Amino acid sequence: MEKVDYDLVIIGGGPAGLTAGIYAVRAKLNVVLFEKLVPGGQIIITDWIENYPGFPDGISGTDLVDKMVQQAKRLGLKIESNEVISLDLSQQVKKISTDNGEIRSHAVIIACGAHPRKLDVPGEDLFYGRGISSCATCDGPFYRNKTVAAVGGGDTAVQESIFLTKFAAKVYLIHRRDSLRATKILQERAFSNDKIEFIWDSVVTGLHGSNGLEKIVVQNLKTKETKELTVDGCFVWVGILPNTDFIKNAVELDKHGFIITNFKMETSVPGVFAAGDGRKTPLRQVSTAVGDAAIAAFSAEQYIESIK
Ligand code: NAP
Repeated sequence: MEKVDYDLVIIGGGPAGLTAGIYAVRAKLNVVLFEKLVPGGQIIITDWIENYPGFPDGISGTDLVDKMVQQAKRLGLKIESNEVISLDLSQQVKKISTDNGEIRSHAVIIACGAHPRKLDVPGEDLFYGRGISSCATCDGPFYRNKTVAAVGGGDTAVQESIFLTKFAAKVYLIHRRDSLRATKILQERAFSNDKIEFIWDSVVTGLHGSNGLEKIVVQNLKTKETKELTVDGCFVWVGILPNTDFIKNAVELDKHGFIITNFKMETSVPGVFAAGDGRKTPLRQVSTAVGDAAIAAFSAEQYIESIK
């Protein structure tokens, strides 16, 4: 049998990657987890999580991830700061090219996660970090007693807009339709929050300012009327895109770039599994990511046993 560095390489250190790591070390696999930044993934930018069981009062995203990292490390998971550049999956031994060289492994779990989608409106890149943000936890406190806009109608936009009202005097919540996609409990909370003003059927068409963002232009899609809103900041929460550029052509992806798996979390390549937000799935939650990851690690263990 060809020599490998590891039985299993896990790519990504969010809830999916960490959970896969916990299961893999407990299965006594020779495993490493590569994370290019710091472990945590998108939940680091989530202020409060109240639908993950076991925390009756809810828990912050950073605290939850800290606990997951502590648990994984206590069980012996090796976590390395490495960016995976590409995968060569053409042979049974998988070659993982990283910014620290090539690693060879029997199996791979891709838990690469996703990142916030941009609006693609003029001014967005110019003011990113100078008034435009996708992280209320990071940037919300800068807007104490100020006016901000939030764009989107999903769980993220609604939940994070409610969080912003802890600081901001006013939040314009701009959504392209006249009803929200977010879950009902979040909708009810937002509707009863008098700091949130809904701007329905509307999209942002321009972002203007000098040193920082000062004004946004909003167009009503039904009436075609445009208006300017004077704001100190604008938070963009219009969905997520998978972090799968590095595996294009390596495993099968859907037309949006999410990884296609079966119920065992197997991708189109034997020995390669996927879990979490980067996977094609009807629901993206911490609880679904950890569920995916437990299955992916179990499937990886069975695969490794079968080839050894
Ligand atoms: P999402 O559910 O995909 O919602 C994206 C929102 O942005 C939709 O309302 C969509 O409008 C709007 N949108 C998309 N493209 C747009 C554009 N170009 N211009 C203006 N608006 C645009 O994304 P998300 O809210 O980030 O949530 C991602 C996943 O994480 C979901 O599975 C969500 O359930 C989960 N999540 C869960 C929680 C929680 O359970 N508390 C919290 C955060 C996130 P339409 O509605 O018209 O399509």
